[in-house]
Amino acid sequence: MIRLHSDNKTRFYIDNYRHKGLRQKLVKELEKQGIKDRRVLLAINAVPRHFFLDTAFAEIAYQNRAFPIEADQTISHPYTVAFQTELLNIQTSDKVLEIGTGSGYQACIIAHMGAKIYSIERQEKLFNKTSAFLPKIGFQQVRTLFGDGYLGAPKFAPFDKIIVTAGAREIPEALFKQLKVGGKLVIPVGIMDEQEMLLYTKVSPTELKCERHGMFTFVPFLKGINKNN
Ligand code: SAH
Repeated sequence: MIRLHSDNKTRFYIDNYRHKGLRQKLVKELEKQGIKDRRVLLAINAVPRHFFLDTAFAEIAYQNRAFPIEADQTISHPYTVAFQTELLNIQTSDKVLEIGTGSGYQACIIAHMGAKIYSIERQEKLFNKTSAFLPKIGFQQVRTLFGDGYLGAPKFAPFDKIIVTAGAREIPEALFKQLKVGGKLVIPVGIMDEQEMLLYTKVSPTELKCERHGMFTFVPFLKGINKNN
């Protein structure tokens, strides 16, 4: 059991057999929906998703749906988390950049798979929360950054994999630049409410291969930062 204090509130983080059972059920559902990568399924089975949600959602945290978090953002649907992670074919040797830390759940899934993860968030409130919270639940290896993901993270580039977890209208040039040759970028792109999941592979310093992987719905990828909202 982990006890955390924040904003004068104490919250107990307990992962019991009921939560573990609900996670196993969720994993079975994801398998039925077509997720095959065992390492992704093992990570979903291991990371307590209810820790990342408000206590009001603790009982329903393992339903296959998105939920609201602070700053009017969302924790992605578990299927979306699994699908994007599977597309990246994460290896333990990978250095990964995530744009859109949000709750930190997706970053912890990738960390649990053994890759090195840097995650950027533009909402200062969410950045402050995850940078204090993730180390306390055992994910000190997740490197959280506050900034505009449009710029990537040049200080830590190049990356083997880049995952964007917000819906983009356009693909920031910086992300392609910060990808290694042979690296992969997964990004949902669209101008309306829905975005198409695109998987880019950098086949040479100047060439990208693109695959399309269906329609999804994300909160928008916005330019600039939002301090202390
Ligand atoms: N990966 C998250 C999903 C969060 S929703 C999770 O597992 O919970 C998408 C997040 O992207 C939001 O928190 C939003 O604030 C953030 N975001 C949007 N535009 C951004 C940008 N330009 N740079 C960094 N983060 C951004």
